[in-house]
Amino acid sequence: MPKPSEFAEKLLRWHQDVDRRLPWKEDRDPYKTWLSEIIMQQTRVAQGTPYYLKFVAAYSTITDLANAPEDDVMKLWQGLGYYSRARNLHHAAKTVRDDFGGLFPTDYKDILSLKGVGKYTAAAIASFAYGKEYAVVDGNVIRVLSRYFGITDAVDHSATLKLLNEKAAKLIKGADPAAYNQAIMDFGATYCTPKSPSCTSCIYADVCKAHNNDLVSEIPFKAKKIKKRTRHLHYLIITDGLGNTIIRHRQEKDIWQSLYDYPCMEMESDKQLDQESIGVYLLSNFGLEISDLKYPTKAYKHILTHQTLFGQFYQVQVKKILELSKPYLQVKTKEVESYALPVLLTNHLKDENELTLL
Ligand code: SF4
Repeated sequence: MPKPSEFAEKLLRWHQDVDRRLPWKEDRDPYKTWLSEIIMQQTRVAQGTPYYLKFVAAYSTITDLANAPEDDVMKLWQGLGYYSRARNLHHAAKTVRDDFGGLFPTDYKDILSLKGVGKYTAAAIASFAYGKEYAVVDGNVIRVLSRYFGITDAVDHSATLKLLNEKAAKLIKGADPAAYNQAIMDFGATYCTPKSPSCTSCIYADVCKAHNNDLVSEIPFKAKKIKKRTRHLHYLIITDGLGNTIIRHRQEKDIWQSLYDYPCMEMESDKQLDQESIGVYLLSNFGLEISDLKYPTKAYKHILTHQTLFGQFYQVQVKKILELSKPYLQVKTKEVESYALPVLLTNHLKDENELTLL
């Protein structure tokens, strides 16, 4: 067994004093480790922890999760965003049930073959659940290593990523893989932070290339800038006076696939729709005529990594809802909340409920 690198020894000593107690660290069950890793992708620990606890309470084994209806899984995930994670989670649970006899795979390549599991997640599961020597390389680790080694090349280029992966694989050698991986992620999240790293008191202050060459604010360098798209979603809440409304089970392969929402007219701007265009839409899509229309009084905003969404909700009264075909379905207005909905709809429903209570 090789001796741990000096980098790893310093890191593990530092981590002994600061180890964060988190529910999924209590036992190293591979199912719970995988669940926590998927939930925590692009999510803060404080936001993800209640979801982790809800999932473990609802599905105590991976087979329970695999056997659950997709709607239930999506509903439990509601509010966490990036819904492809929930769909992939369910898909992977079925793969484990069907192809691995309900036992979470132990081999790195098998873990990596599960839907929604990339190299980072596979390394995290292999090391945390099975103590295997796979180094995690996530945004935190990329930041720490690129600064430590003074790597000024773009970290979103594959050659640079390959180099960082090779360095990470060397640094973990001889150390306890689970402890090392947890330590370097915690170090990146709490110490070598993106904006104000604690360089002066850092355990690597004397050897860190970025710190010693005044390059900390330049590293990690990214070549691509994220282009944000703004979308204006005009939702129609169609009701018939008998307590019924229309919702849509979204099938498009986008961020809301498998969720439910109202019929929606997506436009170039936030300018409110006129009655005529709503009328044409209703007639051509549902054979319905408007008997009353209430305009939105508020626009709802939701910011995602690649998109900024604005949603407005029109109350459209019709005489009778006619027979609908997929992806649309008629439901009771008061039952809409029981479906898995995008955050714009849940925020709107929350306001509506508060108004009803006044
Ligand atoms: S000296 Fe600063 S930049 Fe370098 S590893 Fe430490 S915290 Fe990060």
